[in-house]
Amino acid sequence: MGRIAIKFISAQDAASDSWDLVVVGSGMGSLFFLMKYLQERPDQRVLIVEKGGYNTHDWQLQNLQNSTVDNHRTYRNIGEFHKEWAYTIGLGGSSNCWWALTPRLHPDDFRIHTMTGTSVDWPITYDDLVPYYQQAERKMLIAGSDELEEHYPGTAPFPQPHHHLTTADEMMRARPGHLHYPMPTAKLSLATEESSRNRCCSTSRCHLCPVDAKFNALNGFRDVLSHPAVSIVVDAEVQMLDTAGGVVKSVQFRQAGKDYKAACDLCVLGANALWSPFIMLRSGIGGHGVGRYLGEKMLANVEVYLDGLEHYNGGTATTTMNLSLLKDGRTKDRGTTFLIFKNGFDHGVRLDPPGRWRESLPLGLYVEDHMHYDNGVFDDGGDVPAVKFAPWSPYAQNTLDHAMSRLPEILKPLPVEEIRDPKIWPTLGHVQGTCRMGTDIGNSVVDRDLVSHAVRNLVVVGTSTFPTSGSVNPTLTAAAMSLRSAERLVG
Ligand SMILES: Cc1cc2nc3c(=O)[nH]c(=O)nc-3n(C[C@H](O)[C@H](O)[C@H](O)COP(=O)(O)OP(=O)(O)OC[C@H]3O[C@@H](n4cnc5c(N)ncnc54)[C@H](O)[C@@H]3O)c2cc1C
Ligand code: SF4
Repeated sequence: MGRIAIKFISAQDAASDSWDLVVVGSGMGSLFFLMKYLQERPDQRVLIVEKGGYNTHDWQLQNLQNSTVDNHRTYRNIGEFHKEWAYTIGLGGSSNCWWALTPRLHPDDFRIHTMTGTSVDWPITYDDLVPYYQQAERKMLIAGSDELEEHYPGTAPFPQPHHHLTTADEMMRARPGHLHYPMPTAKLSLATEESSRNRCCSTSRCHLCPVDAKFNALNGFRDVLSHPAVSIVVDAEVQMLDTAGGVVKSVQFRQAGKDYKAACDLCVLGANALWSPFIMLRSGIGGHGVGRYLGEKMLANVEVYLDGLEHYNGGTATTTMNLSLLKDGRTKDRGTTFLIFKNGFDHGVRLDPPGRWRESLPLGLYVEDHMHYDNGVFDDGGDVPAVKFAPWSPYAQNTLDHAMSRLPEILKPLPVEEIRDPKIWPTLGHVQGTCRMGTDIGNSVVDRDLVSHAVRNLVVVGTSTFPTSGSVNPTLTAAAMSLRSAERLVG
């Protein structure tokens, strides 16, 4: 993929102008908001201030990395536990490294408090998001199965047919009453003239997709990034927002050791769930829990040894999702687990006994945890967000125990030889919470339209705004929330 004709401008030029809209960060939350905003207001003057650089797909493949910035240097763990946080700093944000799995949140994920008496409900419902889920799925050309309509009303039709399933998947689906469905994914199952992307070839290197099959900002938001209304300054770290009289007046950023200010009428803050609250804390912008309730699900990878069944014959990296553990529901003491069936060698080929290389099945368990007030991002005067996180709560451990106890029954259609112990991964890459959405400033940072309760021309986008995480991948929901917010503000 070649370079896009983007209007990059200097920091001096960005600071010498006044902008209708300044967007902080260019990840999924920001660009879905901007897409809708430009549809409604194509003549406005928009500036994107991006901390990272523009690394083309070709550059990423040649250098085997998504960015020149080591993201681990962009936060500092201050608690006893040193947790790894994964995201990309660069134009397009974490759309560069994501694996493009795009399930929706389940309708019950929006009302956890109502259903269990614990945690909180969202101030919006699943139904509020349905039209925006559909728009986001259309934009990303999601490949999926219309069967999901039964569990996720308002789903069908998906823009692309689902990917080819594995033999193990077909055996799971042959069981009467199965809950085993093709994974919705932003990876093309068919080449199409609608997109420059190619068809997924199932190499399972999706953070650096060799054939550019997955949706990312650089291949999917060319229209937004090169829009005549949009100027972009890169390698520019936003430090804080200047407010007066309850509104943002300008955005302060630093480039090559020099400080600048860009004046704006509206500001969209989409700097990921560690940096967005850090910028708000530095700016003295309030609300209940700015920086708090930082959350990430536990990722437990499980290898299953199969007896006489060869795996790895699916058409994409993660072929299916099994809703059995999601449908088990929540109690006060445990949450849900999202169970995915993978088609890549997460654990390598099977070595024992020799010759049965493909007789294994990698499963991913996304284990829900509550987002706790004490886990969060702090401004301790340093240059980067100070992060305190204590994993995993008894709630998450109970959830994992429940999932593991259910696996033998769920996997009954398969010739299972052994379900091996779960391996807890250092990170799932789903950084959430810290600028939670809620009904008022006493319980949250932003309102149901993602507008800051405290500063009314500030919109916060991205996964930082999730009040609870559920157990599924978050990005489609963040995209839908951005589209909804932009439509309600300028539609
Ligand atoms: C390896 C990996 C795989 C993943 N796979 C999936 C998946 O399959 N499905 C799924 O739903 N999710 C997946 N995710 C998560 C997904 O990438 C994130 O949920 C999503 O990108 C979050 O969007 P965002 O807009 O909140 O943040 P981002 O997309 O990270 O965007 C934040 C932007 O802000 C910029 N920025 C940060 N600080 C500043 C600053 N101070 N000034 C200016 N700019 C700044 C960043 O450079 C970036 O452009 C994955 C994540 C990882 C790491
Ligand atoms: S499975 Fe392969 S082709 Fe498909 S998105 Fe991942 S890396 Fe790209």
